[in-house]
Amino acid sequence: MKQLTIISGKGGTGKTSIAAAFASLAKNTVFADCDVDAADLHLILKPEIKKTMGFHGLKIASIDKYMCTKCKKCYDHCKFNAIDEDINLIRESCEGCGVCEYVCPVDAIAMVERDSGFAYISDTRFGPMAHAMLKTAEEASGKLVTVVRENAKDIAEDKKKNQIIIDGPPGIGCPVISSISGVDLVLIVTEPTLSAIHDLERILGVAHHFDIPAVVCVNKYDINRDNTEKIENYCKNHNIDVVGKLPYDAIVTESMIHEKSVIEFSDGELSNNIIRMWGKVKEVLSR
Ligand code: SF4
Ligand code: SF4
Repeated sequence: MKQLTIISGKGGTGKTSIAAAFASLAKNTVFADCDVDAADLHLILKPEIKKTMGFHGLKIASIDKYMCTKCKKCYDHCKFNAIDEDINLIRESCEGCGVCEYVCPVDAIAMVERDSGFAYISDTRFGPMAHAMLKTAEEASGKLVTVVRENAKDIAEDKKKNQIIIDGPPGIGCPVISSISGVDLVLIVTEPTLSAIHDLERILGVAHHFDIPAVVCVNKYDINRDNTEKIENYCKNHNIDVVGKLPYDAIVTESMIHEKSVIEFSDGELSNNIIRMWGKVKEVLSR
């Protein structure tokens, strides 16, 4: 089974539109939205949820007020200021380190599971989908990405699908690493801006570190052809294929408004470029 993750050095590069376009072209595939902090692939794929699972991220302290003797040891030792002077827990600040439980002389504190979000298994018009929702201000998104990927893999095995396409998170943090580890290929979507070039170099560094082959797509290449040339030269010098150069096209926004992928919505130049890019990605994946 082949796995492709679509990532970008930062948000807003058109990564999800490309993932949705690939969804309408790919056959026998499971889709995974691993951008759990800002999931939006569902806006286009319109999943019909078949199964919902609770997700527990970091643990959280729970203080038993009846047992508490107000000695304030937990207050003094909490480095995250998550316990106030009246020995109330400030939920959003608790990092689940467990120090308060350790120092409490009367065992009034226990570390308990924290409801951090939900993982879903769904059907879409293009095939099955694994996705998730992280509650506001919850962390552990790397752990939730792993849950989504495991769900996608289970579905692929169960339904005999031969491919998983993952819409990864932006940036280079823990959730990105969780979304690319062990995949066969990453497609990095970038734009021709100076900051995006810098982000591209960083994300390529991460892929290289984990020994994952990478190819690049320059989105909106025509908004700055000089920078596009710089990206192409950089990739050429580092032996990285630029598999697609997509023009700026307002049709991307229009298709999103209509809850369709670009491929479904239009058969213009942009769609043709994406179809060609998908062909190249498939070819690299099959090597
Ligand atoms: S678990 Fe750690 S962060 Fe949370 S209240 Fe206890 S000491 Fe503070
Ligand atoms: S350490 Fe235990 S007994 Fe002391 S204030 Fe905290 S909860 Fe209460």
